Amino acid sequence: MGMKSDQPYRLAGVMGWPVAHSRSPLIHQHWISQYDLHGAYVLLPVQPSELERALRALPTLGFVGCNLTIPHKVAALGLVDQVEPMAQRVGAMNTLVVEANGSLMGYNTDVFGFMQSLRDAQPDWRADTGAVTVVGAGGAARAVLVGLLDGGAREIRLTNRSDGKALDMAQEFGPQVSYIPWKDRHACLDNIATLVNTTNQGMQSEAALDLSLDYLPAQALVADIIYVPLETPLLAAARARGNRTVNGLGMLLNQARPAFQAWFGVLPGLSADLLSKIHATLA
Ligand code: NAP
Repeated sequence: MGMKSDQPYRLAGVMGWPVAHSRSPLIHQHWISQYDLHGAYVLLPVQPSELERALRALPTLGFVGCNLTIPHKVAALGLVDQVEPMAQRVGAMNTLVVEANGSLMGYNTDVFGFMQSLRDAQPDWRADTGAVTVVGAGGAARAVLVGLLDGGAREIRLTNRSDGKALDMAQEFGPQVSYIPWKDRHACLDNIATLVNTTNQGMQSEAALDLSLDYLPAQALVADIIYVPLETPLLAAARARGNRTVNGLGMLLNQARPAFQAWFGVLPGLSADLLSKIHATLA
């Protein structure tokens, strides 16, 4: 790789509004140091009305790309030059790559992040070994559904507080996905192998997810994509009754890996050192 100063200086960052609390700079800066690379990963607070101009400025400013977070993940799709099929299917992009010719390419690495987090936590876990209940039908739910379907899931029970989006999603994603009315959410844990919470319920300063685990099989894996707090009330309840659990930190860390690779040319690992740094910010 040669001396750091011989390398091109690469800038990347996370564009959002607000973005001040993002953990992404900590993660990517850690890898830039770990792999002795020449560059930086910065916060890019950009209002929605300025998104297009901000994206178009990236090549001029020397950026190799950026992550997109709330509220830009969907809008950015319509503003870049090309969108890869995965991002198209999810209907959102979280990663932008500036190509050598200056064109902007949209990717989605949340799908990889979610699936890899389950595999990291439970190497024997598979999407195709039993039914899955997915709670929530927002943007994150779409990435979770695409991952589960690509993993071979044959029966996905999708439940959401309000009907509209969830019904549309069940239709869009095909016969493996069935819509379960919210009032039936407790009973639809019967016989499942995997439960995933994709709502914001259980996040710091939000109420706990209103879901009884009485029907949940003891062998089921329970995943929550929330990572603040690391153990949501749902995960605490699942752990208390003996279920295996996965929190949302693995998804956050694993979505960052292919993005970093696209920008810096190295697929980074998840070291104990990085985990303890990030845990310290979440304690
Ligand atoms: P979103 O698009 O706003 O969707 C929010 C979801 O939560 C919707 O299904 C919504 O239901 C549901 N919800 C909101 N209030 C509720 C309530 N009181 N009772 C029941 N359901 C309720 O948000 P998102 O982008 O999908 O993000 C959802 C969560 O995932 C957030 O906590 C976010 O931090 C987390 N996330 C984590 C990662 C990661 O890397 N770990 C990545 C992305 C997102 P309605 O449709 O009825 O409103």
